[in-house]
Amino acid sequence: MIEAQAMAAQLIDGKAVAAQIEAEVREELARTGLKPCLTVLRVGHDPASEIYVRNKAKKAQELGFAGSELAFPADMTEADLLAEIARLNVDDSVDGILVQLPLPAQIDAKKVIDAIDPEKDVDGFHPINVGRLHLGRPTLVPCTPAGVMRLLASTGVPVAGANAVVVGRSDIVGKPMAALLVQANATVTVCHSKTRDLPSVTRQADILVAAIGRPLFITADMVKPHAVVLDVGINRVGPEFAERLAHDEAKLRVLAKNGFTNVGDVDFARVREVASWITPVPGGVGPMTIAMLMRNTLTAAVRRRK
Ligand code: NAP
Repeated sequence: MIEAQAMAAQLIDGKAVAAQIEAEVREELARTGLKPCLTVLRVGHDPASEIYVRNKAKKAQELGFAGSELAFPADMTEADLLAEIARLNVDDSVDGILVQLPLPAQIDAKKVIDAIDPEKDVDGFHPINVGRLHLGRPTLVPCTPAGVMRLLASTGVPVAGANAVVVGRSDIVGKPMAALLVQANATVTVCHSKTRDLPSVTRQADILVAAIGRPLFITADMVKPHAVVLDVGINRVGPEFAERLAHDEAKLRVLAKNGFTNVGDVDFARVREVASWITPVPGGVGPMTIAMLMRNTLTAAVRRRK
C-alpha cells in the first residue's frame, strides 16, 4: 500500500524496467535459439523518424535480431509502398514489419497499416490486432501502452479496482492504454479535448496516464494526492518555457545549455510533490517503447513458428 507522505513521489525508472525486458528477451533468444527478423520501413526524411528508426535498428542489432531498415524517397507512391509490404508479408524470413509514421501526404497510413500481415504487425496497429486487444485475446499490443503497463506493474500498486484516467484517445496510445487498463480490472475514464472540466476528472484518478502532446499540461492541482502518474508526452520546448520551468532547476540548466529541453505532458517538478509514483521525461515511458517492440518481434517470431 502507498504510505501517506508529504514527500516527493518515487521515480519509476523506465531505463531499468526496459533493461529488465531486454534481459528477458535475451534469455528467451538463448533458450529458443531464435533470431527474429524485424524490417523497418521509412519514407522520406523526417528527422525525428530517422532517429527513432536508427534507435530501433540499433537495439535490434544489440539483442542479436536479424533485420533491416528500408529507406524510401519522400515521393514514393502509395502503390509502391503497398507492393513492398506485400513482398515482406510473403517473405518467410521476416517476422516483424514496422512502417514508421508519419508518412508523406500522398500515402494513406490507414491503407498501409491494413496491408501489413497481422501476424507480423509488431506495432499492433492493424484492425485485427486492435480487435483482439479489445476482446482481451492474445495479440501484438501497441508498444507504448504495453510499456506503461509494465511500468505500472513495477510499482507494485494494485491496478484492479483502481480509478484510472487516461488523457488522450489516440489510436496508438490513449485507446489501447484504456483497453489494457480495463483488462487489468481498473475502472477507466478516457478524456480528450472535448472533456468538460478535465481537472475534476483527473483528480479522481488513482492512476493517471497523460498522452496529450502538450508540454506541462497536467499541473499539481489536477492530481489526486498519492496518485501514480505516467507521462507519455515528449515535447521539445525552448526559452519561451523558461518562466513555466522556473521551479525546475534541472530542466532550466538543460534549457540554458542547449537552448531547448524535453518535457512531458506533466509538470514533473510540481506533480512529484503530490503523486506517490511518477515517470520522469526522459527516462520514463520513452525507453519502454523500443523494449516492447523487441518483445513483440520475438513474440511474432515464436507464434509464426508454432
Ligand atoms: P495525438 O494523436 O496528438 O493525441 C493527443 C490526444 O490528446 C488526443 O486524443 C486529443 O484529444 C488529446 N488532447 C489534446 N489537447 C487536449 C486538451 N486540451 N485536453 C484534453 N485532451 C487533449 O498524440 P499521441 O500520438 O497519442 O501522443 C501523445 C504524446 O505522447 C505526444 O507528446 C507524443 O510525442 C508522445 N508519444 C510518446 C511515445 C513514447 O515512446 N514515449 C510514443 C508515442 C507518443 P482529441 O482526440 O479530442 O483531439
